[in-house]
Amino acid sequence: MAVTAAAPKTELFIGNQWAGASDGAVYDDTNPATGATIAQVANASAADVDRAVTAARNALERGKWATMAASRRAKIIYKIAQLIGERANDIALLEVRDNGKTLGTAKGELGAIVDCFEFYAGAATKNYGNSLPGPLPNYLAQTVREPVGVVGAIVPWNFPLLLASWKVAPALAAGCTIVLKPAGQTPLSALELAKIVLEAGLPEGVLNVITGEGRDLGQAIVEHPGIDKIAFTGSTATGKRVAATAAQTVKRVTLELGGKSPSIVFDDADVTQAVNGALYGVFYNAGQCCEARSRVLVHESIADEFIAAFTGKARKLRVGNPEDPQTQIGAITTQEQYDKIKSYCEIGAGEGAKLLLGGEPARAGEGFEDGKFWSVSAYEAQPAHRISREEVFGPVATITRFKDEAEAIAFANDSEYGLSASVWTQNLGRAGRTARALRTGCVAINTPYSVFPGIPFGGYKQSGYGRELGIETMALYSEIKSIITYIGEKPIDPFGV
Ligand code: NAD
Repeated sequence: MAVTAAAPKTELFIGNQWAGASDGAVYDDTNPATGATIAQVANASAADVDRAVTAARNALERGKWATMAASRRAKIIYKIAQLIGERANDIALLEVRDNGKTLGTAKGELGAIVDCFEFYAGAATKNYGNSLPGPLPNYLAQTVREPVGVVGAIVPWNFPLLLASWKVAPALAAGCTIVLKPAGQTPLSALELAKIVLEAGLPEGVLNVITGEGRDLGQAIVEHPGIDKIAFTGSTATGKRVAATAAQTVKRVTLELGGKSPSIVFDDADVTQAVNGALYGVFYNAGQCCEARSRVLVHESIADEFIAAFTGKARKLRVGNPEDPQTQIGAITTQEQYDKIKSYCEIGAGEGAKLLLGGEPARAGEGFEDGKFWSVSAYEAQPAHRISREEVFGPVATITRFKDEAEAIAFANDSEYGLSASVWTQNLGRAGRTARALRTGCVAINTPYSVFPGIPFGGYKQSGYGRELGIETMALYSEIKSIITYIGEKPIDPFGV
């Protein structure tokens, strides 16, 4: 494994100060495409979580952020957006080296991160309460929204800064303070965000970033009694554990978890458009996407034509150097994930799924021999096959034939997950019927694109609960307080004694 001699040492960001882990521990952060060590990262422990929570709690209780005029808070959030935009190219390259994703993908994410902070800068001044009908004569009643408190934001490695921004931006807009923990494998962009918030004038302790490897650090955040809400993105298995742990201290919890989302291609679809969209839907970000449309369901009458076109185009996707603008599929981010993809391809073959393409490691060329790359893969599979049911989280598509609309919907809904879906049809009525029948948080008609600031994103069933990216999200970072005011002239004397 190559080691970069000048791998920089990173620190934790607590109370607007930079410092190492309290016990001095560090770990190596590697580039998944080359295997080179790119940073020595502070490896925080529960003691550091405690320091970060204290900083966030003090910032909350001093009240400077929550009680600051919402318009001023908005300006600081907007400034964060602007600074991210100015450094987008540098941060995108950092994300590529930390995560293994392609440069094009990372640049797209940076644009979406700026949009997200801008959207919630606008939302800060619109976190409305209500004026309610008086419950009795001479009574006024209203609700106000107050910050939920200290938020523990825990994110995975597949979209490191993007998924952090989906939590940090609305939390800031609602007046919360935050302890952010990026995934151990991809900590670097969150530390760039810390530099930016400092420059944007965010008060001390409002955003704290702690890095570390292993599961204990996330667990320590979820257990900490000084945290009021956990905003978690990650696997369904970890999400269940987070919810159970958070219940001990009755924390508010939002969970964005796994998926096994379908692309449903009806016989009246524009097949070329459906092929192009379905390809992107499953292979974008090397398939390491919670909303990846990894199950392609195709009407039997067009299935042969679709499969020929899909595999023909999939074969042309270039796997390799993530920094080369011609590359469409970068590296697999973690060894654990690589092993999981490999094992699902073996399971698929073992249970009788028909290999159409790939199913093996990919060679990424000179200089990338120590990287982790998987070939663009497709199987024709039955709904009962594990490879059709379980989240692979890699560049692996399953294609399944269906006979009519009812069967397509039944196959699509036959999943413990319910995150997203794409529907390909030229029939407006069928599009609408299918959209309403699917048990998923989002349905995209004739497009693989469904994630935009302002449009709520989140799952039905075991894909989680709560929504990110929407204006509704502001409510999930707020407590509702009811204020009841007596305005009568006659003094109150309920007992009359
Ligand atoms: P993971 O659940 O292993 O880890 C996610 C985060 O949780 C990491 O920061 C990790 O350190 C932390 N963590 C681990 N154990 C913890 C614990 N006991 N308590 C608290 N935190 C803990 O997931 P992953 O492998 O990093 O990410 C891939 C998964 O994330 C996939 O299942 C994918 O579908 C899901 N995901 C979902 C969405 C969505 O919005 N629905 C988005 C991206 C990824």
